[in-house]
Amino acid sequence: MQSKASPLLIVGSMAFDDLELPTISAKNVVGGSATYSAYAATVFAPVRLVAVVGEDFPSGDLEALSRRNVDLAGVERADGKTFRWAGRYDTNLMSRVTLETQLNVFADFQPKLPRSYTDSSYVLLGNIHPTLQCDVLDQVSHPKLVIADTMNFWIEGEPDAVAAMLKRADVLVINEEEARQLSGHHNISKAAKDILRRGPKALIVKRGEYGALLFDGSSTFFAPAYPLEDVVDPTGAGDTFAGAMAGYLAKTNDVSAAGLRRAVMVGSAAASFCVEAVGTAKIGRLSGQDVNSRLESFRRLMHVPDEEVN
Ligand code: AMP
Repeated sequence: MQSKASPLLIVGSMAFDDLELPTISAKNVVGGSATYSAYAATVFAPVRLVAVVGEDFPSGDLEALSRRNVDLAGVERADGKTFRWAGRYDTNLMSRVTLETQLNVFADFQPKLPRSYTDSSYVLLGNIHPTLQCDVLDQVSHPKLVIADTMNFWIEGEPDAVAAMLKRADVLVINEEEARQLSGHHNISKAAKDILRRGPKALIVKRGEYGALLFDGSSTFFAPAYPLEDVVDPTGAGDTFAGAMAGYLAKTNDVSAAGLRRAVMVGSAAASFCVEAVGTAKIGRLSGQDVNSRLESFRRLMHVPDEEVN
């Protein structure tokens, strides 16, 4: 099936994460938006990765990505330390605070796309400095679909660069809190209306365990999150969602309203695996069969017996 898929270009962070989870703390966990998104996307399409790692980034983790059909020609190994992020989750894993963000090698990164990447039709601008997202896009000749992610760190710190990036994104994927922050509206429907005026044709608002909403300007679609008993580590769930969604669109080449709805369901299914283990432990082994079986569980979850209610 993968042979028909278009390659998906992904730019984002590759990171060491220090995670304070309710029952465990884990240090130096390999993560980053690009890492999670790439693993999830390869279930559906080959990935062309653009990122930078420092001298300290383990080669084994790069090899693992490469074995999953991730082209690493656009990943630079620079002198210095890898990007680092530290976060602490609350006891019910519903919210988190960022304790530290160290840009390290990302501070001086100037992405130069390998020539083999410039014809990419599908582009996922993963969470990273919005100017870097635009720099990457500048080098792609005819993108068919640009999906973008961002986060509070950039919305707060780089509002003009985020605004410039939004003008070039077809689909924006952010969480509820970020949608409120970006738009200044608490009500999500109002926030969506406002954000859709800034560039994107579609907006996906992730709501953690309460699923995701897709706004395309003329309709709204809801995808649930799978109700899991054991949520271990939500880190990377958003990137997994975006990666799986983008990979699926690159595979199907169907960017219609219906195609987007299907992609949102796929994103939600993939994200439900990410949270079941620390770091990329589960997402690094995700298969199409896993995603299909969770989609089947979603169908059962949402099945309404066909009887009249009166
Ligand atoms: P998510 O849980 O989907 O929001 O993504 C978590 C991942 O994003 C972690 O692995 C972090 O390394 C990475 N991350 C956190 N802050 C940033 C940032 N400001 N820019 C890029 N990546 C980040």
